[in-house]
Amino acid sequence: MDDTLVRRELKLAWRDSVSLDAEIGNFILEAKDGTFLVVRWLPGTLDEVEVPDHYGCVFAGLKIRAAFHTHPTPFPLGLEEPSPDDLLAIRDD
Ligand SMILES: [Zn+2]
Repeated sequence: MDDTLVRRELKLAWRDSVSLDAEIGNFILEAKDGTFLVVRWLPGTLDEVEVPDHYGCVFAGLKIRAAFHTHPTPFPLGLEEPSPDDLLAIRDD
């Protein structure tokens, strides 16, 4: 959370999620020099986003250090926390 780029991308994801009414997801990747890159997934729908294929916690040849996605539906209609499907997906990774 101390990384300027990552914090900027979190804000942009939220901004775009609200304007598009879509879940927005990203991988945070670690480059070979230790810096972080943020790669956005294709926008989802209001309550779903598809995680791109990735194997062995690697995407585009770089280590996935974290992933995040938005939940644009406001409480109480939507979740402000990871959904059961989110938790299962992380467990399976
Ligand atoms: Zn979710």
